Amino acid sequence: MDNKTTQITADSKSLSTSFQACYSSANELRDLLKMMMAGQSFKRETLILSMENAICALEKAYTYEKKMLNCDTDELDTKNMQSIPEEVQDWLSSTFTRKLSISNEESKHKFKSIANVIRAGIFVDRIYRRASLANFHISTPIVDALKKMNDWDFDVFELHKVSDEQSLRYIGIEVLNKYDLINKYKIPIKHLENFMNELTNGYKLYDNSYHNVVHAADVVQTVFYLIHRTKLQDTLTDIEKFGCFIAAMIHDYEHTGTTNNFHVKTSSQMALLYNDRSVLENHHLSRTFNMMREGETGILSALNNDEYREFRDLVIDMVLATDMSSHFQQVKTIKHLLVLPEYIDKSKALSLILHAADISHPCKPWQHHQKWTHSLMQEFFRQGDQELEMGLPFSPLCDKTTTLVPESQIGFINYIVDPCFQVLEAMLESILDYKDKCKTIKEKEDSSKHHGASTSMEVEKDRSSSMNNIVIRNPKKLKHTPWNQHISKNLENWKDIVSNPAKEKTFVPRRI
Ligand code: AMP
Ligand code: ZN
Repeated sequence: MDNKTTQITADSKSLSTSFQACYSSANELRDLLKMMMAGQSFKRETLILSMENAICALEKAYTYEKKMLNCDTDELDTKNMQSIPEEVQDWLSSTFTRKLSISNEESKHKFKSIANVIRAGIFVDRIYRRASLANFHISTPIVDALKKMNDWDFDVFELHKVSDEQSLRYIGIEVLNKYDLINKYKIPIKHLENFMNELTNGYKLYDNSYHNVVHAADVVQTVFYLIHRTKLQDTLTDIEKFGCFIAAMIHDYEHTGTTNNFHVKTSSQMALLYNDRSVLENHHLSRTFNMMREGETGILSALNNDEYREFRDLVIDMVLATDMSSHFQQVKTIKHLLVLPEYIDKSKALSLILHAADISHPCKPWQHHQKWTHSLMQEFFRQGDQELEMGLPFSPLCDKTTTLVPESQIGFINYIVDPCFQVLEAMLESILDYKDKCKTIKEKEDSSKHHGASTSMEVEKDRSSSMNNIVIRNPKKLKHTPWNQHISKNLENWKDIVSNPAKEKTFVPRRI
Protein backbone atom coordinates (compact mmCIF):
# COMPACT_ATOMS: atom_id res chain seq x y z
CA MET A 1 0.00 0.00 0.00
CA ASP A 2 1.61 3.29 -0.99
CA ASN A 3 1.34 6.73 0.57
CA LYS A 4 -1.83 7.79 -1.19
CA THR A 5 -3.67 4.59 -0.40
CA THR A 6 -2.44 4.85 3.18
CA GLN A 7 -3.81 8.39 3.28
CA ILE A 8 -7.23 7.26 2.08
CA THR A 9 -7.21 4.47 4.65
CA ALA A 10 -5.98 6.82 7.41
CA ASP A 11 -8.72 9.31 6.50
CA SER A 12 -11.20 6.50 6.64
CA LYS A 13 -9.97 5.40 10.10
CA SER A 14 -9.94 8.92 11.47
CA LEU A 15 -13.45 9.53 10.22
CA SER A 16 -14.81 6.30 11.58
CA THR A 17 -13.24 7.18 14.97
CA SER A 18 -14.86 10.58 14.83
CA PHE A 19 -18.21 9.05 13.85
CA GLN A 20 -17.94 6.69 16.81
CA ALA A 21 -17.17 9.65 19.07
CA CYS A 22 -20.25 11.50 17.75
CA TYR A 23 -22.38 8.44 18.34
CA SER A 24 -21.20 7.77 21.90
CA SER A 25 -21.44 11.47 22.79
CA ALA A 26 -25.03 11.54 21.54
CA ASN A 27 -25.80 8.48 23.68
CA GLU A 28 -24.18 10.02 26.76
CA LEU A 29 -26.14 13.26 26.35
CA ARG A 30 -29.36 11.35 25.71
CA ASP A 31 -28.88 9.38 28.93
CA LEU A 32 -28.25 12.55 30.90
CA LEU A 33 -31.32 14.19 29.37
CA LYS A 34 -33.44 11.19 30.33
CA MET A 35 -32.15 11.42 33.89
CA MET A 36 -32.91 15.17 34.00
CA MET A 37 -36.41 14.63 32.67
CA ALA A 38 -36.99 11.94 35.27
CA GLY A 39 -35.81 14.35 37.97
CA GLN A 40 -32.82 12.21 38.82
CA SER A 41 -29.66 13.89 40.07
CA PHE A 42 -26.16 13.52 38.70
CA LYS A 43 -22.85 15.21 39.28
CA ARG A 44 -22.18 18.54 37.58
CA GLU A 45 -18.75 17.17 36.47
CA THR A 46 -20.52 14.37 34.60
CA LEU A 47 -22.48 16.88 32.56
CA ILE A 48 -19.38 19.00 31.91
CA LEU A 49 -17.40 15.97 30.74
CA SER A 50 -20.18 14.81 28.41
CA MET A 51 -20.54 18.27 26.93
CA GLU A 52 -16.81 18.55 26.39
CA ASN A 53 -16.78 15.17 24.63
CA ALA A 54 -19.65 16.24 22.43
CA ILE A 55 -17.94 19.52 21.48
CA CYS A 56 -14.76 17.66 20.61
CA ALA A 57 -16.56 15.05 18.47
CA LEU A 58 -18.64 17.64 16.63
CA GLU A 59 -15.61 19.77 15.89
CA LYS A 60 -13.71 16.79 14.51
CA ALA A 61 -16.59 15.75 12.29
CA TYR A 62 -17.01 19.34 11.08
CA THR A 63 -13.30 19.70 10.24
CA TYR A 64 -13.33 16.43 8.36
CA GLU A 65 -16.42 17.22 6.33
CA LYS A 66 -15.00 20.66 5.50
CA LYS A 67 -11.74 19.10 4.34
CA MET A 68 -13.62 16.69 2.12
CA LEU A 69 -15.66 19.46 0.58
CA ASN A 70 -12.68 21.71 -0.02
CA CYS A 71 -10.07 19.33 -1.29
CA ASP A 72 -12.08 17.04 -3.50
CA THR A 73 -13.78 19.04 -6.17
CA ASP A 74 -15.24 17.01 -8.98
CA GLU A 75 -13.31 19.11 -11.45
CA LEU A 76 -9.67 19.28 -12.29
CA ASP A 77 -7.56 21.48 -10.04
CA THR A 78 -5.78 23.50 -12.70
CA LYS A 79 -3.99 25.62 -10.08
CA ASN A 80 -1.65 22.71 -9.45
CA MET A 81 -0.96 22.12 -13.11
CA GLN A 82 1.30 25.03 -13.93
CA SER A 83 4.17 22.74 -14.86
CA ILE A 84 2.35 20.97 -17.67
CA PRO A 85 1.78 22.37 -21.16
CA GLU A 86 -1.35 24.40 -21.71
CA GLU A 87 -2.63 22.09 -24.42
CA VAL A 88 -2.42 19.13 -22.06
CA GLN A 89 -4.26 21.11 -19.36
CA ASP A 90 -6.91 22.01 -21.89
CA TRP A 91 -7.27 18.39 -22.98
CA LEU A 92 -7.52 17.11 -19.39
CA SER A 93 -10.13 19.66 -18.60
CA SER A 94 -12.21 19.16 -21.75
CA THR A 95 -12.11 15.37 -21.63
CA PHE A 96 -12.33 14.42 -17.98
CA THR A 97 -14.62 17.12 -16.66
CA ARG A 98 -18.02 18.29 -17.81
CA LYS A 99 -16.56 21.49 -19.27
CA LEU A 100 -16.29 21.78 -23.03
CA SER A 101 -12.93 22.56 -24.55
CA ILE A 102 -11.84 26.14 -24.15
CA SER A 103 -10.10 26.08 -27.56
CA ASN A 104 -12.05 26.15 -30.00
CA GLU A 105 -16.10 -7.18 -43.47
CA GLU A 106 -17.87 -9.11 -43.95
CA SER A 107 -18.86 -11.20 -40.93
CA LYS A 108 -16.54 -14.15 -41.02
CA HIS A 109 -16.87 -17.21 -38.88
CA LYS A 110 -13.26 -17.63 -38.06
CA PHE A 111 -13.95 -20.79 -36.18
CA LYS A 112 -16.82 -23.04 -36.99
CA SER A 113 -19.21 -22.24 -34.25
CA ILE A 114 -19.35 -21.16 -30.67
CA ALA A 115 -21.50 -24.19 -30.05
CA ASN A 116 -18.46 -26.27 -30.83
CA VAL A 117 -16.31 -24.34 -28.39
CA ILE A 118 -18.84 -24.88 -25.70
CA ARG A 119 -19.36 -28.52 -26.47
CA ALA A 120 -15.64 -28.94 -26.59
CA GLY A 121 -15.15 -28.37 -22.93
CA ILE A 122 -17.42 -25.67 -21.53
CA PHE A 123 -14.40 -23.92 -20.10
CA VAL A 124 -11.47 -23.42 -22.33
CA ASP A 125 -9.19 -24.03 -19.37
CA ARG A 126 -10.61 -27.51 -19.10
CA ILE A 127 -9.52 -28.14 -22.63
CA TYR A 128 -5.93 -27.85 -21.72
CA ARG A 129 -6.30 -29.59 -18.40
CA ARG A 130 -7.94 -32.61 -19.95
CA ALA A 131 -6.66 -32.95 -23.45
CA SER A 132 -9.01 -35.88 -24.03
CA LEU A 133 -11.96 -33.46 -24.04
CA ALA A 134 -10.49 -31.49 -26.87
CA ASN A 135 -12.38 -33.21 -29.65
CA PHE A 136 -12.94 -29.76 -31.04
CA HIS A 137 -10.13 -27.83 -32.56
CA ILE A 138 -9.06 -24.64 -30.88
CA SER A 139 -5.58 -24.03 -32.08
CA THR A 140 -2.84 -24.44 -29.51
CA PRO A 141 -1.71 -20.80 -29.79
CA ILE A 142 -5.23 -19.65 -28.86
CA VAL A 143 -5.37 -22.03 -25.92
CA ASP A 144 -1.90 -20.88 -24.85
CA ALA A 145 -2.90 -17.25 -25.08
CA LEU A 146 -6.16 -17.81 -23.16
CA LYS A 147 -4.32 -19.67 -20.41
CA LYS A 148 -2.87 -16.33 -19.35
CA MET A 149 -6.27 -14.72 -18.88
CA ASN A 150 -5.67 -14.57 -15.12
CA ASP A 151 -2.55 -12.43 -15.54
CA TRP A 152 -2.47 -8.68 -15.35
CA ASP A 153 0.16 -8.68 -18.11
CA PHE A 154 -2.09 -10.72 -20.43
CA ASP A 155 -1.15 -10.08 -24.07
CA VAL A 156 -4.40 -9.26 -25.86
CA PHE A 157 -2.52 -8.35 -29.04
CA GLU A 158 -1.09 -11.85 -29.18
CA LEU A 159 -4.52 -13.45 -28.71
CA HIS A 160 -5.93 -11.19 -31.39
CA LYS A 161 -3.21 -12.23 -33.79
CA VAL A 162 -3.43 -15.97 -33.21
CA SER A 163 -7.24 -16.00 -33.23
CA ASP A 164 -7.70 -14.35 -36.63
CA GLU A 165 -8.88 -11.14 -34.99
CA GLN A 166 -11.44 -12.87 -32.79
CA SER A 167 -10.04 -11.75 -29.43
CA LEU A 168 -13.33 -10.31 -28.14
CA ARG A 169 -15.25 -13.42 -29.09
CA TYR A 170 -12.83 -15.77 -27.33
CA ILE A 171 -12.43 -13.66 -24.21
CA GLY A 172 -16.14 -12.90 -24.03
CA ILE A 173 -17.14 -16.54 -24.21
CA GLU A 174 -14.37 -17.55 -21.84
CA VAL A 175 -15.54 -15.24 -19.07
CA LEU A 176 -19.22 -16.08 -19.51
CA ASN A 177 -18.30 -19.76 -19.39
CA LYS A 178 -16.00 -19.44 -16.41
CA TYR A 179 -18.96 -18.29 -14.36
CA ASP A 180 -21.37 -20.73 -16.03
CA LEU A 181 -23.54 -17.84 -17.19
CA ILE A 182 -24.39 -19.35 -20.57
CA ASN A 183 -26.06 -22.28 -18.85
CA LYS A 184 -27.53 -20.23 -16.05
CA TYR A 185 -29.25 -17.78 -18.39
CA LYS A 186 -30.01 -20.40 -21.04
CA ILE A 187 -28.41 -18.34 -23.77
CA PRO A 188 -29.15 -20.02 -27.09
CA ILE A 189 -25.76 -20.87 -28.54
CA LYS A 190 -26.69 -19.71 -32.01
CA HIS A 191 -27.84 -16.37 -30.62
CA LEU A 192 -24.67 -15.95 -28.63
CA GLU A 193 -22.71 -16.69 -31.74
CA ASN A 194 -24.66 -14.09 -33.74
CA PHE A 195 -24.34 -11.58 -30.94
CA MET A 196 -20.59 -11.96 -30.75
CA ASN A 197 -20.38 -11.61 -34.54
CA GLU A 198 -22.43 -8.44 -34.48
CA LEU A 199 -20.36 -7.03 -31.63
CA THR A 200 -17.16 -7.71 -33.53
CA ASN A 201 -18.59 -6.13 -36.67
CA GLY A 202 -19.76 -3.06 -34.77
CA TYR A 203 -16.29 -2.54 -33.34
CA LYS A 204 -14.90 -2.69 -36.88
CA LEU A 205 -17.45 -0.31 -38.39
CA TYR A 206 -15.34 2.87 -38.26
CA ASP A 207 -11.97 1.18 -38.67
CA ASN A 208 -10.63 2.88 -35.54
CA SER A 209 -7.03 2.42 -34.54
CA TYR A 210 -7.90 2.53 -30.80
CA HIS A 211 -11.60 2.11 -30.16
CA ASN A 212 -11.79 -1.26 -31.82
CA VAL A 213 -12.41 -4.88 -30.93
CA VAL A 214 -8.97 -5.33 -29.33
CA HIS A 215 -9.69 -2.50 -26.91
CA ALA A 216 -13.02 -4.12 -26.01
CA ALA A 217 -11.30 -7.49 -25.47
CA ASP A 218 -8.62 -5.81 -23.37
CA VAL A 219 -11.21 -4.11 -21.15
CA VAL A 220 -13.15 -7.38 -20.66
CA GLN A 221 -9.97 -9.20 -19.61
CA THR A 222 -8.95 -6.38 -17.25
CA VAL A 223 -12.40 -6.34 -15.63
CA PHE A 224 -12.16 -10.11 -15.31
CA TYR A 225 -8.79 -9.78 -13.55
CA LEU A 226 -10.09 -7.15 -11.14
CA ILE A 227 -13.11 -9.25 -10.23
CA HIS A 228 -11.42 -12.61 -10.18
CA ARG A 229 -8.04 -11.94 -8.55
CA THR A 230 -9.44 -9.73 -5.81
CA LYS A 231 -12.16 -12.30 -5.07
CA LEU A 232 -14.75 -9.63 -5.64
CA GLN A 233 -16.50 -12.39 -7.56
CA ASP A 234 -17.49 -13.99 -4.25
CA THR A 235 -19.59 -10.95 -3.38
CA LEU A 236 -21.45 -10.77 -6.69
CA THR A 237 -24.64 -12.49 -7.76
CA ASP A 238 -24.82 -14.23 -11.13
CA ILE A 239 -26.87 -11.45 -12.66
CA GLU A 240 -24.29 -8.90 -11.48
CA LYS A 241 -21.44 -10.90 -13.01
CA PHE A 242 -23.43 -11.26 -16.22
CA GLY A 243 -24.18 -7.54 -16.36
CA CYS A 244 -20.65 -6.63 -15.54
CA PHE A 245 -19.04 -8.66 -18.35
CA ILE A 246 -21.66 -7.70 -20.92
CA ALA A 247 -21.13 -4.04 -19.99
CA ALA A 248 -17.41 -4.44 -20.61
CA MET A 249 -18.03 -6.19 -23.96
CA ILE A 250 -20.43 -3.58 -25.32
CA HIS A 251 -18.97 -0.46 -23.73
CA ASP A 252 -17.59 1.09 -26.97
CA TYR A 253 -19.77 -0.67 -29.58
CA GLU A 254 -19.85 1.27 -32.86
CA HIS A 255 -17.52 3.93 -31.49
CA THR A 256 -17.09 6.52 -34.21
CA GLY A 257 -13.43 7.17 -33.45
CA THR A 258 -14.31 10.73 -32.52
CA THR A 259 -14.99 12.21 -29.09
CA ASN A 260 -18.26 13.24 -27.47
CA ASN A 261 -17.15 16.85 -27.71
CA PHE A 262 -16.64 16.41 -31.44
CA HIS A 263 -20.18 15.05 -31.81
CA VAL A 264 -21.55 18.00 -29.89
CA LYS A 265 -19.60 20.64 -31.74
CA THR A 266 -20.46 19.20 -35.15
CA SER A 267 -24.11 18.68 -34.16
CA SER A 268 -23.94 15.11 -35.37
CA GLN A 269 -27.04 12.94 -35.71
CA MET A 270 -25.98 11.07 -32.59
CA ALA A 271 -25.60 14.30 -30.60
CA LEU A 272 -29.07 15.36 -31.73
CA LEU A 273 -30.50 11.98 -30.80
CA TYR A 274 -28.97 12.00 -27.32
CA ASN A 275 -29.27 15.72 -26.59
CA ASP A 276 -25.50 16.24 -26.31
CA ARG A 277 -25.31 14.12 -23.15
CA SER A 278 -22.90 11.15 -23.07
CA VAL A 279 -23.55 10.83 -26.76
CA LEU A 280 -21.37 7.83 -27.56
CA GLU A 281 -22.14 5.94 -24.37
CA ASN A 282 -25.88 6.27 -25.01
CA HIS A 283 -25.34 5.00 -28.53
CA HIS A 284 -23.31 1.96 -27.37
CA LEU A 285 -26.08 1.07 -24.94
CA SER A 286 -29.08 1.70 -27.10
CA ARG A 287 -27.73 -0.22 -30.08
CA THR A 288 -26.63 -3.25 -28.09
CA PHE A 289 -29.79 -3.49 -25.99
CA ASN A 290 -31.78 -3.60 -29.20
CA MET A 291 -29.58 -6.46 -30.30
CA MET A 292 -29.57 -8.38 -27.01
CA ARG A 293 -33.28 -8.12 -26.35
CA GLU A 294 -34.71 -10.05 -29.23
CA GLY A 295 -34.27 -11.74 -32.57
CA GLU A 296 -31.37 -13.87 -33.69
CA THR A 297 -28.95 -11.96 -31.46
CA GLY A 298 -31.20 -12.11 -28.40
CA ILE A 299 -29.23 -13.43 -25.45
CA LEU A 300 -31.53 -12.22 -22.68
CA SER A 301 -34.70 -14.13 -23.52
CA ALA A 302 -34.49 -16.47 -20.52
CA LEU A 303 -34.15 -13.65 -17.96
CA ASN A 304 -37.29 -13.06 -15.93
CA ASN A 305 -38.56 -9.51 -15.48
CA ASP A 306 -36.68 -8.86 -12.27
CA GLU A 307 -33.45 -10.24 -13.65
CA TYR A 308 -33.83 -8.24 -16.85
CA ARG A 309 -34.50 -5.04 -14.90
CA GLU A 310 -31.50 -5.57 -12.63
CA PHE A 311 -29.26 -6.48 -15.55
CA ARG A 312 -30.37 -3.48 -17.57
CA ASP A 313 -29.96 -1.01 -14.69
CA LEU A 314 -26.48 -2.25 -13.96
CA VAL A 315 -25.29 -2.29 -17.58
CA ILE A 316 -26.67 1.21 -18.18
CA ASP A 317 -25.02 2.58 -15.02
CA MET A 318 -21.71 0.99 -15.89
CA VAL A 319 -21.52 2.04 -19.53
CA LEU A 320 -22.68 5.60 -18.85
CA ALA A 321 -19.93 5.82 -16.23
CA THR A 322 -17.33 5.23 -18.96
CA ASP A 323 -18.02 8.77 -20.15
CA MET A 324 -14.71 10.38 -19.26
CA SER A 325 -16.41 13.62 -18.30
CA SER A 326 -17.79 11.90 -15.20
CA HIS A 327 -14.30 10.79 -14.10
CA PHE A 328 -13.76 13.24 -11.24
CA GLN A 329 -17.29 12.93 -9.95
CA GLN A 330 -16.97 9.17 -9.90
CA VAL A 331 -13.64 9.13 -8.09
CA LYS A 332 -14.93 11.66 -5.58
CA THR A 333 -18.08 9.64 -4.89
CA ILE A 334 -16.10 6.48 -4.13
CA LYS A 335 -13.64 8.41 -1.94
CA HIS A 336 -16.57 9.75 0.03
CA LEU A 337 -18.16 6.35 0.39
CA LEU A 338 -14.85 4.93 1.59
CA VAL A 339 -14.70 7.27 4.54
CA LEU A 340 -18.29 6.85 5.59
CA PRO A 341 -19.11 3.88 7.76
CA GLU A 342 -21.75 2.87 5.28
CA TYR A 343 -22.01 0.76 2.18
CA ILE A 344 -20.64 1.07 -1.27
CA ASP A 345 -23.33 0.60 -3.82
CA LYS A 346 -22.34 -2.37 -5.97
CA SER A 347 -23.25 -0.59 -9.16
CA LYS A 348 -20.91 2.28 -8.19
CA ALA A 349 -18.12 -0.16 -7.33
CA LEU A 350 -18.54 -2.06 -10.59
CA SER A 351 -18.73 1.18 -12.56
CA LEU A 352 -15.40 2.27 -11.11
CA ILE A 353 -13.95 -1.09 -12.05
CA LEU A 354 -15.08 -0.72 -15.66
CA HIS A 355 -13.92 2.90 -15.83
CA ALA A 356 -10.52 1.96 -14.40
CA ALA A 357 -10.19 -0.95 -16.84
CA ASP A 358 -11.08 1.42 -19.66
CA ILE A 359 -8.14 3.70 -18.88
CA SER A 360 -5.84 0.96 -17.61
CA HIS A 361 -3.28 0.74 -20.38
CA PRO A 362 -0.77 3.04 -18.60
CA CYS A 363 -0.87 0.40 -15.85
CA LYS A 364 0.18 -2.36 -18.24
CA PRO A 365 3.65 -3.34 -19.47
CA TRP A 366 5.41 -0.56 -21.37
CA GLN A 367 5.23 -2.34 -24.75
CA HIS A 368 1.44 -2.59 -24.45
CA HIS A 369 1.00 0.91 -23.09
CA GLN A 370 3.13 2.34 -25.85
CA LYS A 371 1.09 0.53 -28.52
CA TRP A 372 -2.20 1.74 -27.06
CA THR A 373 -0.94 5.30 -26.81
CA HIS A 374 0.22 5.21 -30.39
CA SER A 375 -3.17 3.89 -31.58
CA LEU A 376 -5.08 6.48 -29.59
CA MET A 377 -2.95 9.31 -30.92
CA GLN A 378 -3.54 8.07 -34.45
CA GLU A 379 -7.26 8.17 -33.79
CA PHE A 380 -7.06 11.66 -32.27
CA PHE A 381 -5.06 12.87 -35.26
CA ARG A 382 -7.65 11.44 -37.63
CA GLN A 383 -10.24 13.52 -35.81
CA GLY A 384 -7.87 16.49 -36.16
CA ASP A 385 -7.75 15.91 -39.92
CA GLN A 386 -11.55 15.98 -40.06
CA GLU A 387 -11.60 19.16 -38.00
CA LEU A 388 -9.14 20.76 -40.38
CA GLU A 389 -11.28 19.76 -43.34
CA MET A 390 -14.42 21.12 -41.71
CA GLY A 391 -12.71 24.39 -40.83
CA LEU A 392 -13.13 23.76 -37.13
CA PRO A 393 -10.54 24.49 -34.45
CA PHE A 394 -8.49 21.47 -33.40
CA SER A 395 -9.64 19.63 -30.32
CA PRO A 396 -6.85 19.21 -27.77
CA LEU A 397 -4.31 16.51 -28.74
CA CYS A 398 -5.80 16.27 -32.23
CA ASP A 399 -3.33 18.47 -34.12
CA LYS A 400 -0.68 16.10 -35.40
CA THR A 401 1.75 18.93 -36.02
CA THR A 402 1.88 20.23 -32.47
CA THR A 403 0.69 17.55 -30.08
CA LEU A 404 3.08 16.73 -27.27
CA VAL A 405 2.52 13.02 -26.84
CA PRO A 406 4.85 12.21 -23.92
CA GLU A 407 3.74 15.29 -21.97
CA SER A 408 0.10 14.38 -22.46
CA GLN A 409 0.78 10.87 -21.19
CA ILE A 410 2.53 12.22 -18.10
CA GLY A 411 -0.51 14.43 -17.43
CA PHE A 412 -2.89 11.56 -18.12
CA ILE A 413 -1.05 9.25 -15.71
CA ASN A 414 -0.50 11.81 -12.94
CA TYR A 415 -3.89 13.45 -12.96
CA ILE A 416 -6.22 10.72 -14.14
CA VAL A 417 -4.93 7.15 -14.09
CA ASP A 418 -2.85 7.08 -10.91
CA PRO A 419 -5.46 8.76 -8.67
CA CYS A 420 -8.15 6.50 -10.15
CA PHE A 421 -6.17 3.33 -9.39
CA GLN A 422 -5.36 4.55 -5.87
CA VAL A 423 -9.05 4.88 -5.14
CA LEU A 424 -9.79 1.59 -6.87
CA GLU A 425 -7.17 -0.10 -4.71
CA ALA A 426 -8.57 1.38 -1.52
CA MET A 427 -12.06 0.35 -2.58
CA LEU A 428 -11.02 -3.21 -3.38
CA GLU A 429 -9.19 -3.44 -0.06
CA SER A 430 -12.35 -2.44 1.73
CA ILE A 431 -14.38 -4.93 -0.25
CA LEU A 432 -12.00 -7.74 0.65
CA ASP A 433 -13.16 -7.25 4.19
CA TYR A 434 -16.70 -8.03 3.10
CA LYS A 435 -15.77 -11.67 2.70
CA ASP A 436 -14.47 -11.81 6.24
CA LYS A 437 -17.66 -10.20 7.40
CA CYS A 438 -19.67 -12.93 5.64
CA LYS A 439 -17.51 -15.48 7.39
CA THR A 440 -18.23 -13.78 10.70
CA ILE A 441 -21.95 -13.89 10.00
CA LYS A 442 -21.66 -17.60 9.27
CA GLU A 443 -19.75 -18.14 12.52
CA LYS A 444 -22.33 -16.10 14.43
CA GLU A 445 -25.09 -18.14 12.85
CA ASP A 446 -23.40 -21.32 13.93
CA SER A 447 -22.86 -20.02 17.43
CA SER A 448 -26.47 -18.74 17.61
CA LYS A 449 -27.62 -22.31 17.23
CA HIS A 450 -26.00 -22.90 20.61
CA HIS A 451 -26.74 -19.57 22.31
CA GLY A 452 -30.36 -18.76 21.65
CA ALA A 453 -32.53 -16.06 20.13
CA SER A 454 -30.78 -12.80 21.00
CA THR A 455 -27.68 -13.80 19.02
CA SER A 456 -29.88 -14.83 16.13
CA MET A 457 -31.39 -11.38 15.99
CA GLU A 458 -27.95 -9.82 15.89
CA VAL A 459 -27.11 -12.12 13.05
CA GLU A 460 -30.27 -11.15 11.21
CA LYS A 461 -29.46 -7.48 11.62
CA ASP A 462 -25.94 -7.99 10.31
CA ARG A 463 -27.15 -10.10 7.46
CA SER A 464 -29.83 -7.71 6.25
CA SER A 465 -27.41 -4.83 6.29
CA SER A 466 -24.90 -6.68 4.18
CA MET A 467 -27.00 -8.69 1.78
CA ASN A 468 -27.23 -6.28 -1.11
CA ASN A 469 -24.32 -4.03 -0.50
CA ILE A 470 -20.66 -4.17 0.08
CA VAL A 471 -19.77 -3.46 3.67
CA ILE A 472 -16.87 -1.22 4.42
CA ARG A 473 -14.91 -1.99 7.56
CA ASN A 474 -11.21 -2.17 8.41
CA PRO A 475 -9.59 -2.53 5.03
CA LYS A 476 -7.29 -5.45 4.26
CA LYS A 477 -4.25 -5.15 2.08
CA LEU A 478 -4.59 -6.41 -1.49
CA LYS A 479 -2.23 -9.24 -2.36
CA HIS A 480 -1.79 -8.33 -6.01
CA THR A 481 -1.45 -4.76 -7.19
CA PRO A 482 0.61 -5.21 -10.35
CA TRP A 483 -0.55 -1.88 -11.75
CA ASN A 484 1.60 0.14 -9.34
CA GLN A 485 4.94 -0.98 -10.69
CA HIS A 486 3.85 -0.44 -14.29
CA ILE A 487 2.53 3.04 -13.58
CA SER A 488 5.88 4.06 -12.09
CA LYS A 489 7.88 2.49 -14.87
CA ASN A 490 5.74 3.96 -17.66
CA LEU A 491 5.87 7.40 -16.09
CA GLU A 492 9.64 7.15 -15.85
CA ASN A 493 9.83 6.14 -19.51
CA TRP A 494 7.76 9.11 -20.67
CA LYS A 495 9.82 11.47 -18.53
CA ASP A 496 12.93 9.99 -19.98
CA ILE A 497 11.64 10.69 -23.48
CA VAL A 498 10.79 14.28 -22.58
CA SER A 499 14.29 14.89 -21.23
CA ASN A 500 16.06 13.00 -24.04
CA PRO A 501 14.22 13.94 -27.21
CA ALA A 502 16.71 11.85 -29.18
CA LYS A 503 15.12 8.73 -27.70
CA GLU A 504 11.76 9.67 -29.10
CA LYS A 505 12.20 7.84 -32.32
CA THR A 506 12.47 4.59 -30.45
CA PHE A 507 9.15 5.24 -28.78
CA VAL A 508 6.20 7.31 -29.90
CA PRO A 509 7.04 10.39 -31.97
CA ARG A 510 6.61 13.51 -29.89
CA ARG A 511 5.57 15.64 -32.81
CA ILE A 512 4.36 14.00 -35.96
P1 AMP B 1 -13.33 5.02 -24.02
O1 AMP B 1 -13.66 6.02 -25.09
O2 AMP B 1 -14.51 4.61 -23.18
O3 AMP B 1 -12.54 3.87 -24.50
O4 AMP B 1 -12.32 5.76 -23.07
C1 AMP B 1 -11.02 5.96 -23.50
C2 AMP B 1 -10.70 7.42 -23.36
O5 AMP B 1 -9.70 7.48 -22.35
C3 AMP B 1 -10.08 8.03 -24.58
O6 AMP B 1 -11.01 8.55 -25.46
C4 AMP B 1 -9.22 9.09 -23.94
O7 AMP B 1 -9.97 10.20 -23.62
C5 AMP B 1 -8.76 8.45 -22.68
N1 AMP B 1 -7.48 7.79 -22.83
C6 AMP B 1 -7.20 6.48 -22.79
N2 AMP B 1 -5.88 6.28 -22.98
C7 AMP B 1 -5.31 7.46 -23.12
C8 AMP B 1 -3.99 7.90 -23.34
N3 AMP B 1 -2.95 7.08 -23.43
N4 AMP B 1 -3.78 9.20 -23.46
C9 AMP B 1 -4.80 10.03 -23.38
N5 AMP B 1 -6.06 9.70 -23.17
C10 AMP B 1 -6.34 8.42 -23.03
ZN1 ZN C 1 -13.31 2.07 -23.92
